[in-house]
Amino acid sequence: MSTSKFHVTQDEPHRWRNVEELVYKDEDGAATFKDVTRRILFGEDHQDGMEVRYFEVDAGGHTTLEKHEHTHLVIPIKGKGSCLVGDEVLPLAIHDLVYVPSWAWHQFRAAESEVLGFLCMVKVDRDRPTLPTAEELAEMKSNPEVAAFIRH
Ligand code: MN
Repeated sequence: MSTSKFHVTQDEPHRWRNVEELVYKDEDGAATFKDVTRRILFGEDHQDGMEVRYFEVDAGGHTTLEKHEHTHLVIPIKGKGSCLVGDEVLPLAIHDLVYVPSWAWHQFRAAESEVLGFLCMVKVDRDRPTLPTAEELAEMKSNPEVAAFIRH
């Protein structure tokens, strides 16, 4: 077992020692997500303004459909799923790279029978997400592929 402050080992795959499992979003009264956990792997103590998180979405679950000024760099490392970025619905394979630009609508979904785990890099200092209005949601759903992805 490693005792280095520069190295964190795993007790099992994707379960890093002393890395706490957190609720995905603390202040989401609307419960716009389903079955998602969050772990901060590298926070503001480690990196120059960057944070690396690990999210795990249970089978059939999904993250919040949102947009914001800050960007995301996403790398799936477990399971299977798909995502929406802008008006594109993308199947996800392990070690794919996904770029979510500023103000692009985005959502991540696990497959119906498989967990989806992914790394996500963001700036520590970032704006809060915006959720779609009813009009924006209706406009997104005018694209049948996007409508089928969003579902609820
Ligand atoms: Mn986001």
